[in-house]
Amino acid sequence: MNRLSRLVVLAASASMLAAPALAQDAQAIRTAEQLRDRAMAGSGAYSIVEAITTRFGPRPAGTASERAAAEWGVGYLRAEGFDNVRLQDFPLSAWSRGQESVEIVGRHAQPLAAVGLGGGEATPPEGIEAEAVVFETWQGLLDAPASSLTGKIAVVLQDTIRAQDGRGYGSSSVMRFQGPTEAAARGAVGYVLRSLGTHDHRFPHTGATRVGEGTVPAFAISPPDADQIRRLVALNEGPIRLRLKSTAAFQAPGRSQNVIAEVRGRERPDEIITIGGHLDSWDQGTGAIDDAAGIAITTAALKLIADLPQAPRRTIRVVWWGAEEVSQPAPAQGLAGARAYADSIANEVANHVAISESDFGAGRIYGLSLPSGQADSDFQKAAMRVLTPIGVLWNPAPARGGGPDTGPSVALGVPAFQLAQDGTDYFDVHHTADDVIDRIDPKAMDQNVAAWAALLWLIADSDVDFRAAAPTP
Ligand SMILES: [Zn+2]
Repeated sequence: MNRLSRLVVLAASASMLAAPALAQDAQAIRTAEQLRDRAMAGSGAYSIVEAITTRFGPRPAGTASERAAAEWGVGYLRAEGFDNVRLQDFPLSAWSRGQESVEIVGRHAQPLAAVGLGGGEATPPEGIEAEAVVFETWQGLLDAPASSLTGKIAVVLQDTIRAQDGRGYGSSSVMRFQGPTEAAARGAVGYVLRSLGTHDHRFPHTGATRVGEGTVPAFAISPPDADQIRRLVALNEGPIRLRLKSTAAFQAPGRSQNVIAEVRGRERPDEIITIGGHLDSWDQGTGAIDDAAGIAITTAALKLIADLPQAPRRTIRVVWWGAEEVSQPAPAQGLAGARAYADSIANEVANHVAISESDFGAGRIYGLSLPSGQADSDFQKAAMRVLTPIGVLWNPAPARGGGPDTGPSVALGVPAFQLAQDGTDYFDVHHTADDVIDRIDPKAMDQNVAAWAALLWLIADSDVDFRAAAPTP
C-alpha cells in the first residue's frame, strides 16, 4: 500500500480524527515514543561495550584481534535474531607500533610520555637524535622557510580547544595528519606534537598520520610533557636535544572486514537505512568510547526495533565498520571499510534512504540534523516531538555526514542524518590508553539508544524521502 491509499483507508476508518494524515503519523509517533521510553529504562548498550572490550581488548585494524571481534559479532548478531548477518572482507595492511620512546638527552635529560602516530615510520635502530625547534603554533611551523629545519626535530605545542561539538579537534587534527609531511618539507628529521587532547593528565594520544613518501618519524607527547618543553625553552639554557626511537612497521598485505546485519522491512525491504559504528580501535586502550560505544548504541537501538511485534516498512542495516582509524600506504587511503561498503552499494544507491554513524563517544545526544529540505517538514516536527523530551535540540543546518564511515556512501548520494553527541569530554581520553569502559556512563548510553531507536522507527516506518533533496554526487 502506498501512502495515499493508506491515507484513504485511514480517512474511511478513523472518522473520529479530523486530520487523517495525522492518524497514521500518530501511530508511528506512539511506537517511537515507546521505543524511546524502553531504551531510557535500560537499553543493553553498555553490556555490548562490555562484551567487546573485555573479550578482545584493543582491536587494531587488520589484526587477529579485530578479526576475532568481527567473528564474535556475527555469532552475537545471529543469536539476537538479526537477518542477513555476514562479513564483508577487504584488503588491508596492519600497522604495528613495536617499541618506541621519546626522551630529552644531554642537559636536562629526561624521558617523555609519548606515543608514535598511527602509520608512522620507524627510526633507524639507534634512533634519531637532533636539536628541537619548538613552535607554539601550527602556523608557526607552516611559516618556517624551506630548509630552515634541516637536520632538526620540529616540535609543535599548540593546544586543542575543548568544545561540545568537537570543533577544537576538527581544527587541530591537521597538525597530526600533515605535521610529519610539513616538517619533512622543511628538512626536519623528526616531528613531535602536543597530543590532540583536552585534559592535563599524562596519557599521550595517538591517531592516524599520512602514510607515504616525504614524511618523518612522528610522535605525540602528553600535554604535561608539552608544558615541560615550554618551561625548558623559557629557561633559555641552550638547545633542547631529543632522541626518538621507533620500530613501527606495516605488516604483509592482509585483510579487515565489515560486519553487517539487518532488520528486513515488511513492505519495502529494498529500501535501506544504514547505521553503525566502527569495530577497530587504537592499540593502547580498549576502544570503549572509540568506538565500541557507537556499535553498541546503534546495535541496541536496532535490537529494540527487532523485538517489536512487526518490522518497520523499510529495512534497517547495522554495519560494524572495520579499519576506520588507519591510513594506508599509497595509493590506498583511509576509511578502507567504509569504501568497501560504499563500493558494495554503488549499483543500488537509489535504494538507500539514509545513512548515519555513531562515532563520537558515549556522551548524551543533544542535537538532530537531517538532510536538507527537512526544516519545518512533517517529519521534522514528528521527530522533534519524540526527541525533545530527552534533551535533543533541532539543528537547522543540514547534516553533511553522519560520521567518518558514512563519507564514501554520502559521496555516492546517500542522504545523511546526524544525532550529535556531547563531546565536551571526548578528547580527554580519545586515542589514549585511558579509552576504557570505565569512562562510560551507562545512562548516557541509554539516552543515545532512545534517540536512535525512536528516530530510526520514524524513518523506517514512513514514506519520508530525503533522497530528492540530497546533494547530487
Ligand atoms: Zn572513531
